[in-house]
Amino acid sequence: MRNVLITGSSRGIGAACARLFAESGDRVFINYNNSQKSAELLRNSLIEHGAQAVTIKCDVSDPNQVKRMFNEIGLICEGIDVLVNNAGIAQTKLFTEITDEDWQRMISTNLSSAFYCCRAAIPYMIRKKFGRIINISSMWGQVGGSCEVHYSAAKAGIIGLTKALAMEEGLSGITVNCVAPGVIKTDMTGNLSDEDLESLRQETPTGTIGIPEDISKAVFFLAKDESAFINGQVLGVNGGFVV
Ligand code: NAP
Repeated sequence: MRNVLITGSSRGIGAACARLFAESGDRVFINYNNSQKSAELLRNSLIEHGAQAVTIKCDVSDPNQVKRMFNEIGLICEGIDVLVNNAGIAQTKLFTEITDEDWQRMISTNLSSAFYCCRAAIPYMIRKKFGRIINISSMWGQVGGSCEVHYSAAKAGIIGLTKALAMEEGLSGITVNCVAPGVIKTDMTGNLSDEDLESLRQETPTGTIGIPEDISKAVFFLAKDESAFINGQVLGVNGGFVV
């Protein structure tokens, strides 16, 4: 049984990942920050169906909390085999209105968190000569999104982190890859108006908005043993919006 940590899996894409890994026989660590109730509901429903799931509170933008989370995980298992760095926030703002606080919060939540979690997870993976790290970027990290400069910068940083870490850890049996979602129906896109969502749908070559399971299936694929030769890649799951 593999041990899988999915950051930010109380809701949305992370929750879909937790469901898929757990239903496939892995033990999942469901990390949440604010949404304790939905994390616990998810855990309970997985356990009811015979899966192994543990909830774990941690603000992954805080390095001390990440250390504490990995210490807690260490009480249950030897280490994490699959790390999905998914936790993230979004904010739409004109560039000139982004404050220092907005910038720091975006970078620490969407980029530094992945650094903290990779740093904590990798020593065990190196010892085991196996590991799968999947980082969730965004198509806006690939091409840049207007009024989302800080978000795009953090997500582009995730791509850089993925590629460089993949180079460094390949010989240790650890692969590091990235999934870059397009427009996915979750709470994150819930604040978009119906008109905005409709125009994004029309801009997507498949004529559809994605669902969290579109992303979880891609993440799960990259986490497989058989995906060992896929390393340092950015897999766009966006209906062809960005090619
Ligand atoms: P979502 O529905 O808003 O869920 C975000 C998740 O991240 C929640 O579980 C939340 O946990 C967690 N989170 C936020 N800050 C955290 C922190 N400091 N520490 C721990 N957990 C934290 O978003 P989503 O759409 O599923 O997005 C998941 C990832 O996909 C994000 O990285 C996002 O940037 C990326 N993405 C999404 C889309 C899209 O269209 N939806 C497109 C491209 C990329 P709590 O509620 O417990 O705080």
